Amino acid sequence: MIKVAKFGGSSVADAGQFKKVKDIVRSDPDRRFVVVSAAGKRFSDDNKITDLLLLVNAHINYHVDCTSLLADIEERFVELARELGIKYPIAQKFEEFSSVIKSLSPEYIVSRGEWFTARLMAEYLGLPFLDAADAIVFHHDGTIDTERTATQVKDAVQRLGSFVLPGFYGATVDGTIKLFQRGGGDITGAILARCLDADVYENWTDVSGFLSADPRIVDNPRTIHRITFDEMRELSYMGASVLQEEAIFPVREVGIPIQIKNTNRPDKRGTIIRETAEEGAQEHLITGIAGKKDFLAVHVQKAHMSNAVGVIRRALGIFERYGVSVEHIPTGVDSFGVVVNGADVKDTIYSIINDMQQELKPDSINLVDKLALISVVGRNMSRRPGTSGRVFGVLGEAGINIRMITQSSQEISIIVGVNNEDFERAINVIYEKFVSDEMVDMVRGEVQ
Ligand code: ASP
Repeated sequence: MIKVAKFGGSSVADAGQFKKVKDIVRSDPDRRFVVVSAAGKRFSDDNKITDLLLLVNAHINYHVDCTSLLADIEERFVELARELGIKYPIAQKFEEFSSVIKSLSPEYIVSRGEWFTARLMAEYLGLPFLDAADAIVFHHDGTIDTERTATQVKDAVQRLGSFVLPGFYGATVDGTIKLFQRGGGDITGAILARCLDADVYENWTDVSGFLSADPRIVDNPRTIHRITFDEMRELSYMGASVLQEEAIFPVREVGIPIQIKNTNRPDKRGTIIRETAEEGAQEHLITGIAGKKDFLAVHVQKAHMSNAVGVIRRALGIFERYGVSVEHIPTGVDSFGVVVNGADVKDTIYSIINDMQQELKPDSINLVDKLALISVVGRNMSRRPGTSGRVFGVLGEAGINIRMITQSSQEISIIVGVNNEDFERAINVIYEKFVSDEMVDMVRGEVQ
């Protein structure tokens, strides 16, 4: 079995965290490939090494002396090595780097956060170090050269057996360092997992997995233990903060699951993300609830529209002309609505309505603003009748007016529109309804 274990910045922030990583890696012989981010924050108003290196670049750019900033960065690495008893000559290596800093590219400078962190981690774990510049190959346009990367990774496995790889950067064939977007260590981990045909891509972070609702809205929401990629996409689209899309595609395409785990609580189950989840009665009905405020709906009514051809196309064409992305199109027999993000039409909505009047000649156009959309997501909903009824019922009982309803075509989500001011309460009543009902089932042993 092959596991790629990627540790985020907070998991490698100080010596104590390094020790946890060692325990985690040592506790499972399948964890032979480790990817690390640059050391992150040790406490809430601390700085991430990556941010400090970006600041170094800014200093260089504006010809401001950055000696003391570099000394601070060096001290963090030196302290790490000292506390962990690592022999690697980190101070000397760092000084070699800082002495030529002005001749280095901004990408190269920023990538050193990962480089030094991984170098120390490799020493500490007693594993070989693999420079990402020798493994992750970029095209000049910044995209990944998948074939070359796969070859380099396989060669490295042959040569080294196992290794620690810095995340977040790679290089073109001529050796120019290139970076992924911020947080891109997750992408490195996913690419590595794919090249190795790993059984699982473990993403170690500082939370015990994805939560089924926003903890700022719902008190102590339950952790999602199993989720499908599609469900995650629905939830993240509606604002739940989850892994970046770019970090998902490389593994999703080849069916490698992602396991989210907490470095500080390795005993917790975390969340496993897969293409499909086993079916069965012993599953939660609702995987998660997410939502966003400030949408706007334009409702168009036109008698006998159902017999006319092209009305919706023309309406959508108008939004397209203004460069506005359309979120939902709930339809009736002689009416339809177009739901968009309020911010996207802030300056153009009246021009859009004017164009609609001219081009569609509708009987009426109605604008509903301050609309919040809530997505109730669950792969198991489609197999259990009555779910939407329960969602609408509970909102009705709470006196919350539903302004819009749609369902995704795969039936993994039900989306309801409510007034902005009902947003938090609506999420809470839906959450309570489903979770507390399940509590009853759980007592009966029907839900895991
Ligand atoms: N160190 C980089 C950042 O802070 C990449 C990462 O952490 O994954 O964005």
